[in-house]
Amino acid sequence: MQGLMMEYPLTLTHFLERARRLFPKKEIVSKMPGGALHRYTYADMTARAARLANALKKLGVAPGERVATFGWNSYRHLETYFAIPCSGAVLHTLNIRLFPDDVSYIANHAEDKVVIVDASLLPAFEKIAPQLKTVEQYIVMADAPFETSLPNALDYETLLAESSPDFEWQRLDEQSAAAMCYTSGTTGKPKGCAYSHRALFLHALGAASADSLGISERDVALPIVPMFHVFAWGVPFAATMVGAKQVFAGPNMQPQDIAELIQNERVTIAAGVPTIWIGLLAFLEREQYDLSSLRVMPVGGAAAPPALIETFQKKFGVQILHAWGMTEMSPLGTVARVKPEMLALPEAEQFRVRFKQGRPVAGVEIRAVDEAGNEVAWDGATMGELEVRGPWIIRAYYNSPGSEDRFHDGWFRTGDVVTIDADGYIQIVDRTKDLVKSGGEWISTVELESAIMGHPKVLEAAVIAVPHAKWQERPLACVVPKPDSAGQISKEEILEYLQTKFAKWWLPDDVVFIDQIPKTSVGKFDKKVLREKFKEYALAE
Ligand code: ADP
Repeated sequence: MQGLMMEYPLTLTHFLERARRLFPKKEIVSKMPGGALHRYTYADMTARAARLANALKKLGVAPGERVATFGWNSYRHLETYFAIPCSGAVLHTLNIRLFPDDVSYIANHAEDKVVIVDASLLPAFEKIAPQLKTVEQYIVMADAPFETSLPNALDYETLLAESSPDFEWQRLDEQSAAAMCYTSGTTGKPKGCAYSHRALFLHALGAASADSLGISERDVALPIVPMFHVFAWGVPFAATMVGAKQVFAGPNMQPQDIAELIQNERVTIAAGVPTIWIGLLAFLEREQYDLSSLRVMPVGGAAAPPALIETFQKKFGVQILHAWGMTEMSPLGTVARVKPEMLALPEAEQFRVRFKQGRPVAGVEIRAVDEAGNEVAWDGATMGELEVRGPWIIRAYYNSPGSEDRFHDGWFRTGDVVTIDADGYIQIVDRTKDLVKSGGEWISTVELESAIMGHPKVLEAAVIAVPHAKWQERPLACVVPKPDSAGQISKEEILEYLQTKFAKWWLPDDVVFIDQIPKTSVGKFDKKVLREKFKEYALAE
């Protein structure tokens, strides 16, 4: 027997129309280049998205064609998030922090037809544009008159002013592509993910649900994670769906900017990678800000150090929600919330649960497999490669022959090594390529560096594998002291601090002190650069 429910396509148009009808007065606030605050409402946003859809149609953008963005987090970027997919085209967010050669590779691979660029990023983008082979039109988002070498560039505001605020949104196929993102290519060339409307719709429901990130109409959402990085983890889509107030920081990403926005806009949920919050925490130890509005801070993209989670909770009453995801997963996979039965446990044990990456969000299935591809036990100890499947996880990379080995019996292979405990909480042990393989045994660099970052004199730490004559590889700790502890911390202090926490053979063979940990384009520790730098580092036998 068939169900008798309507055929109703799950598309982003539903969110746009919903926001227009139900939340017209709700505010969207953006801190612009230069620091000025821009404020408007969902009524303004949805009307301007319709104008942009009309403008793109006039420019000849056909369904399925790629319209790229090269921008900071802002209200205009939010308009493109809806205007492009809801008019049938494909939103392609380009990563503004990649090397020019990578951006042009990605834009050419995706065959972008139009690129919408922030005026403040023109100097960077103008270096990329000559390499672009398929782009026919550039559009510049500017607050003031601008000059550019981009051929025939159009002004975003003029285009909108000349277009109607009414657009007849068509009924789209939910399986059609709404958007694209490329992985940042930590190994090999970047690879493209093509997200369907259906995937982004279901992902927004999954992200907003109470036991996941839990985003509601009462929230004020500040995604610090960039809109070019997997749609700021889907926060803008989920926030628009529920009608939350949205706050965008633009290029203003210093700890003081973030603290001010949280305090002044009464932000309740702020999401970002650990490095952002490590910086904010150090700042808050010196400066007084009122963060009492903050309800929850989803942190992911890299392991959140336990000390970060604990200090925010104990000193500022802010709950960090540790989450794990991937570009290939739209991106949300797991969220570490304490089960109600665990609330009676001692505080330290509850923290141990929250330090893990959490349980899968409804819609995501997980399993861990050994090297032979067999599933390993959910015992919290046996390591295996994490595999996932679900409606917002890719089934193939875009136009990427040779990447079939990332899939296994209908599952996507994440490249992350994990343990899964009996309650279904995953713990990321490492990325397969970052693990230290010492004499046939594995050492987790993530666990070591998370522990080192708990030392009161340490700001940041990254652990890498360096070649070793006897053991093949051994761990080397690269440590950045806090500014007031520089020169006052020794290798012995770090090793002594780790001694009680790890087996002796896990301890780093050496500790080097450096000024900063190199970061990737999205603010994660770039261990590739460190590995290269220390590849000939001589460890004692
Ligand atoms: P990339 O870092 O390659 O650009 P993504 O942004 O998609 O790509 O990153 C996904 C990867 O980031 C995951 O496979 C995992 O290794 C890492 N990651 C994400 N969240 C966490 C977390 N909470 N803890 C540890 N690692 C994480």
